[in-house]
Amino acid sequence: MILRGGVVPTVPTADSLAIGGGKILAIGQAEEMALLASEITQTIDLKGRTVLPGFIDAHTHFLQVGLEEISSVTDLSELNRADTLAKLAEAVRVRGEGEWVIGRGWDESVWQDPSYLSREELDRIAPKNPVVAVRIDGHLLTVNNFALKQIPADVNQGQVDISRGILREKEAFAFLRAIGPDAETLRDALYAATALAHRLGITSIHTMLPPDWIRPYMRERGRIKLRVTLYPEIFCLDALETLGIESGFGDEWLRLGGVKLFADGSIGAGNAALGEPFVDSGENGSLNYTDEELVHLVRRAVKVGLQTAIHAIGDRAIEQVLRAHLTAGTPRELRHRIEHFELPTKAQIERARDMGLNISMQPNFVGNWSGDEKMYQARLGAQRDRRSDPHRLVLEAGLPLAFGSDCMPISPLYGLHWAVNAPHPSQRVSVDEGISCYTEAGAYLSFEEAKKGKIEVGMDADLVILDQDPHRVPERIAELHVEMTFVDGEVVFRRGDESCA
Ligand SMILES: [Zn+2]
Repeated sequence: MILRGGVVPTVPTADSLAIGGGKILAIGQAEEMALLASEITQTIDLKGRTVLPGFIDAHTHFLQVGLEEISSVTDLSELNRADTLAKLAEAVRVRGEGEWVIGRGWDESVWQDPSYLSREELDRIAPKNPVVAVRIDGHLLTVNNFALKQIPADVNQGQVDISRGILREKEAFAFLRAIGPDAETLRDALYAATALAHRLGITSIHTMLPPDWIRPYMRERGRIKLRVTLYPEIFCLDALETLGIESGFGDEWLRLGGVKLFADGSIGAGNAALGEPFVDSGENGSLNYTDEELVHLVRRAVKVGLQTAIHAIGDRAIEQVLRAHLTAGTPRELRHRIEHFELPTKAQIERARDMGLNISMQPNFVGNWSGDEKMYQARLGAQRDRRSDPHRLVLEAGLPLAFGSDCMPISPLYGLHWAVNAPHPSQRVSVDEGISCYTEAGAYLSFEEAKKGKIEVGMDADLVILDQDPHRVPERIAELHVEMTFVDGEVVFRRGDESCA
């Protein structure tokens, strides 16, 4: 296939590509490419549209998105308090008495009354159905009385406020596992999320997931035209140890990235581990592990040959993760990752670089929460807001930095937009840097930089075609359209023709 007459910002001398056998075969001018054509060559006229390497979303909760797509989970994002409750009430109404209603995505930080959803409010709309409403960051949820009767929470845990029906962190994750969807629902969710990814120009994902959600990926491997790198939660370490399965196990469609750990919670849930307290609650958040526990887990993972991806948001959590890597003496070759890295100090950024660590950040967070009158200012104060999510400083320090969405929302163009148009200078990156973070850096973090993430001869023909060049409209990147998506040289999405996925 020849794609001709486009703009290729990463290869300014070229306007055309030849692809075949799933790879990029040649790059150059249209006349040169025409010489390679045979009678079976298909030619697509790009009409001046822009070709980029397919986006690699380096941090997703992919099946969660899929469950929302198939309405197995009610999407509560971008609603005010009253509408959140109204949407849940509607979901209760369409389900039978006693059936579970699961909602996800509410965010009290943008409501007039910024208190968490309460058990009482849910009881009022659902006296006869179990309801769980998960906060946008997934680290906190509210349940009603009926739900608690079916799955009692451990009231002795510090992360449970039973009177308000609020569960955080481990207790929240355990609760969700207990009501997990069945295999068929998960498969449907996987296909729905894949179709959405293709519409957004995503050709590879790194996904964080409970180990018992891996099966649908194995069953549909390669059949879904999406390259998947798995980061199962650390609970599966025993099994990986026994089997001796290390990072990179798998093939180009499905591979094991490493293991996912959580060092702390989130800013929104008020439990990120901070050096200085939250402005609103006066609390410092909490660490999920003692130093000894974290070092022990990291050592075990390294011994098996597993990359770690450790969620660390607050400066105190980041400090603990740096300490753990230092104590464990982790090798650079495993390309250990820190996820989110929202509040690092300058010194921590430099130490992370010196230790050979890699960073995975989500620029949509600054779009959602940073700047005047947003959540970071209310919870952290203006000073910490200004130094939150310092993409620019991380790049300047020379750390490998991959971008992902954390599905808030899943959309590389939205993330790229906010990385380029972030409210504070230390957050802002150039269009080129942003594209590189959303493509080749993701490939690097999954040890696949020789194979994908760039437009070069011999690389995977995973491509996204945009209606305009983001370099020309940097202040409007979020409004650009994905025209086509190619995976393995195949068209998996074409705008206006949604049937070909
Ligand atoms: Zn996440």
